Amino acid sequence: MSDWEIGVFASIDAGLGVHLDVARELGVPTIQLHAPHAETRTAEKAQEFLDKLAEYEIRLTAVFGGFSGESYQDIPTVEETVGLVPPETRAVRLEEMKEISDFAKLLQCDVVALHLGFVPHSVEGSDYQGVVEVTRQLCDHARANGQSLHLETGQETADSLLQFIQDVDQDNLFVNFDPANMILYGTGEPIEALEKIADHVKSVHCKDAKWADQPGKEWGEETPLGDGQVDMRRYLSTLKSIGYRGPLTIEREIPQEPDRQKNEIGHAVELLTRLRGELAS
Ligand code: MG
Repeated sequence: MSDWEIGVFASIDAGLGVHLDVARELGVPTIQLHAPHAETRTAEKAQEFLDKLAEYEIRLTAVFGGFSGESYQDIPTVEETVGLVPPETRAVRLEEMKEISDFAKLLQCDVVALHLGFVPHSVEGSDYQGVVEVTRQLCDHARANGQSLHLETGQETADSLLQFIQDVDQDNLFVNFDPANMILYGTGEPIEALEKIADHVKSVHCKDAKWADQPGKEWGEETPLGDGQVDMRRYLSTLKSIGYRGPLTIEREIPQEPDRQKNEIGHAVELLTRLRGELAS
């Protein structure tokens, strides 16, 4: 495997990614996969998907879990509905996430990832310890499948995430760093955050965004890669300086406009390929 293989976020029947055929047309050598719905998570479907990956010469680098009932409509709704944090769905979603880990194993993938949700602050009376505990249980399950668990960034500041990782204290818990999410959620300047959590970053998204007028209260705006305020050159040079050599997975969350999505991801592939070349020398 070479350094910084370009990838794209893909999906089968659920989620915001592009279809595998589009990944092939884009000529990318890796994908992360949004886990499909339960009825598609079978041994037979896994084998079909593996055969396609082999045929297209695409390597699967992570399987992302997601749950029905999640909504990214606005920041308060994310807080109420996303990940393993909402207490009323936590037990059911933990079981589903374990099934997703088992499906990822069928796909011979050693990384599972998810948006954990807004982790409550570590104060007395909060549900912080419950979230720590469910994350440990998921790490245990993933470990038994030979997998790491990567937490998507954005909903916490870098400091809170570091504290959380330290409190969960599992050797297979890492970070999928998404610089645009830091801006979209208003949780911190992405490059600074990346430097802080550098030691835990084992996969990344390449996504761009502009800050909201009132960060943290309203969404920032996702943009095509290179048009936002992440500063892609600085992002990649920081990834280089922290020694990150894994895939660069492009994420562009406009599945309702597939032609535009494909076109913009195509431009993103060109931008990353150019910057990678410039930074290699
Ligand atoms: Mg992301």
